[in-house]
Amino acid sequence: MDTFVHPISEIDAADTARFGGKATGLARMAAAGIRVPPAFVIGTDGYRAFRAAGGVLPEALVAEVRAAMQQLEAATGRRFGAAHDAAPLLVSVRSGAQVSMPGMMDTVLNLGVSADSALALARETGNAPFALDTWLRFWRMFSDIVLRLDAEALVAALASEIQAARAQATPPAFEQLEKAILRSVAKQYDGEVMADPQWQLLRAIDAVFESWDSRRARAYREHHGISDSLGTAVTVQAMVFGNIDERSGSGVAFTRNPNNGECKLYGEFLRGRQGEDLVSGSATPQPVDADGALSEGHRRELREQGARLERVYHDAVDIEFTVEGDHLYFLQVRPAKRTAQAAVRIAVELVDDGIVSHAQALKKVSGEQLKRLLRPAFEPSALESAQVLAQGIGASPGHAYGVAVLDADRAAAVAAGGEQVVLVRPTTSPQDIRGMLAAKAIVTARGGALSHAAVVSRALDIPCVVGCEMIEIDSESRTFVIGGKAFEEGTPLSVDGALGKVYSGVLPLQSSTGLVHDIDRLLHWCDEVAGIGYWAGGLTGVDAGSALRQGPRGLGVVALTDLLIAAGTLGELIDAVNDLSQQPDRTDTQERIRLLAYGACRHLFIEAPGVPIDLRLPHLGSPRAQRMIGAWAGLAPRLFLPLGLKGLYVPLLRGVADAARDTGHRAVTPLVAGITSASELGAFRKVAAEMGLQRVGAHLQSPAALSDGGSIARVGHAVWVDIREIIRTFYGYPSALSFGDDVFEAYVADGYLDHNPRNHVRAPLKRMLEELVNAVGASSQTAVRLGVDCGTSAAVSLVEDLYSVGFRTFSIPIPASASLRLALGQFAARSNEHE
Ligand code: ADP
Ligand code: MG
Repeated sequence: MDTFVHPISEIDAADTARFGGKATGLARMAAAGIRVPPAFVIGTDGYRAFRAAGGVLPEALVAEVRAAMQQLEAATGRRFGAAHDAAPLLVSVRSGAQVSMPGMMDTVLNLGVSADSALALARETGNAPFALDTWLRFWRMFSDIVLRLDAEALVAALASEIQAARAQATPPAFEQLEKAILRSVAKQYDGEVMADPQWQLLRAIDAVFESWDSRRARAYREHHGISDSLGTAVTVQAMVFGNIDERSGSGVAFTRNPNNGECKLYGEFLRGRQGEDLVSGSATPQPVDADGALSEGHRRELREQGARLERVYHDAVDIEFTVEGDHLYFLQVRPAKRTAQAAVRIAVELVDDGIVSHAQALKKVSGEQLKRLLRPAFEPSALESAQVLAQGIGASPGHAYGVAVLDADRAAAVAAGGEQVVLVRPTTSPQDIRGMLAAKAIVTARGGALSHAAVVSRALDIPCVVGCEMIEIDSESRTFVIGGKAFEEGTPLSVDGALGKVYSGVLPLQSSTGLVHDIDRLLHWCDEVAGIGYWAGGLTGVDAGSALRQGPRGLGVVALTDLLIAAGTLGELIDAVNDLSQQPDRTDTQERIRLLAYGACRHLFIEAPGVPIDLRLPHLGSPRAQRMIGAWAGLAPRLFLPLGLKGLYVPLLRGVADAARDTGHRAVTPLVAGITSASELGAFRKVAAEMGLQRVGAHLQSPAALSDGGSIARVGHAVWVDIREIIRTFYGYPSALSFGDDVFEAYVADGYLDHNPRNHVRAPLKRMLEELVNAVGASSQTAVRLGVDCGTSAAVSLVEDLYSVGFRTFSIPIPASASLRLALGQFAARSNEHE
């Protein structure tokens, strides 16, 4: 029973590896009672046997094809080959692999016409021009695809015979034409060519198998990472004719709009033509719902059958169809290709329509699609006419605009006046930090992807272009020159930090806010499927509203430093820390510190009443502090230890406590970063408790902290694993912020390391993390909250590894949250499937 050839009504429609997407689609449609022309399929095992025999169809396969053709004859009541008085059977020979490779392989249509059967077709339809046209189309495709000849030249050489046959559809005229065709072919082609459809059928099957190995198909597979060994199946199907009369035609339809996702039949119909004309673009079709396109009955049938197919595929589908006379035939179905916008809407509405589960829905959208939709970008129409002033290295992605300011202090002042600023500098240094914090984008004339400007803007998530060598900056005269042209400070610029382009003027930004609600729902399902608690991390305070809209378990890990940046007072804190470093006991300095903390927190506490907030105090020993504080190296060394000086952490805590009390916020948990021992947290806890803050937590940043994590957790209420710092300190790299990912990738590619430490957690770090999960418990039910702080740029694979280790609480900054939550949802859905 293990044969190569199977009627499509008898195949296992789930076995796309063997029968390909096209045949299984036909099988599914036939099983659902949808009208499909009869067909059989030669499986990919046939392809492999063909290859094994050195590119020859095995005899067993040939015999099975002949038998299957007889079954097709019986099913259609038609005759293949010598037709005489019977109605002729014409077939298409179609490629179809497991993965869709649109337009990459070959299909031959109208196979089965000879002089003899062309006449029979003319008699049957009473339409001799149609029969002649069908016949010539066949020869065009056959000589092009199977014989690899110049089909147009071939047909052009037959002009007089064609004219004679057109004038009189008689046996002699058709026989003359056939002879002329064979003669003309023989001029171009060395081997034997026959007018016999039986022979032609085998050659066509041969050619479709060969097309799997065509150059373009190989290139396509290489590009998309598809294995060459899959092979293609071949479907042989009875032809239906959209060109048989004016009521007929061919079309494609999408069950939902592939551009915007709207649930409404969308597609095109080409009256009086075969499907091939639609694909080749040789004629202009009408929209399916245009007046006079499809009949009302057929439109309804398409809609209804489309809805059934969505339930079969659990997805929006596209359909190739042909109307022949009164009947609508379905020729192909597959999951529809769609834009990012459509992907989101379709996924959500398929759930609302009861067609897919939450887990199925979230697999229909990719992280890249979400990122693209969520990041505000220049309006495409504005980009068309935009003028590129300078090109450099894209150092931190994102789009922004503002007026050019050439000095950091002035940038801070201009921004404080409410203007959007693009800071344009030869290079940047820690002295420029205020201007950088205030800028919407940063452009430097020199430097590469590891320069101060690049590193800091990535950390701050500000668009940045470095190495714009064509910009000459004259700070004295407050001008900059590009290509001989001088620009004043204050000139509006727009910056694309991914492409490294600086445009002239203001390019308006847009984000697809229309989809925000749908995206939120989808992400909520991701959390539910993965069983995770999502915390909105990296907040600055101004974005609390948009963070809360996403329904996080809490806000955190929030850095007090980020709140100060948003309040515009980080510079003041740095000044106060400098003063404190010299005179640690001055109470007026400590009071300044308390007020700064108070002011920075108050706003966020008011914005998020009742929502848990895990707030991390500044850690001056961190690489980030080193970058931001100009006089860092001169600070009192004790300040670099986690609890530093009492003169710093006590007033900071008091500011937080006062803000919590004044706003009535009862769910603030201050976190201390960088500690390695329960005793440090114990001391912190005691001070906090005296101020009325009942809960405290730790931000673990080193292997030493991990190994003592269990006992640290017993003293506190929240333990967050700062995964970037953990990786950095575990491996001993100088600063997690300073390397672009490409640096590690190149290092791994050179074979120096077997994995990128930022992308995967491997033993023994993995073991340490597992022990922590076991010691503390990761479920949301435990008394102590154990989470991972993912930071802005945690790799998807890294977060998946952490999920596998057992972590279930994740702090993710808003810009990264959509793609990471989606990735976790998809990862969990995949894992559940395999169980
Ligand atoms: P592709 O994989 O390039 O889409 P197809 O096998 O789907 O190739 O065929 C190309 C065109 O020929 C399509 O428009 C299809 O509708 C049409 N076609 C294929 N088989 C038949 C048939 N049996 N009757 C009518 N049209 C057909
Ligand atoms: Mg097709």
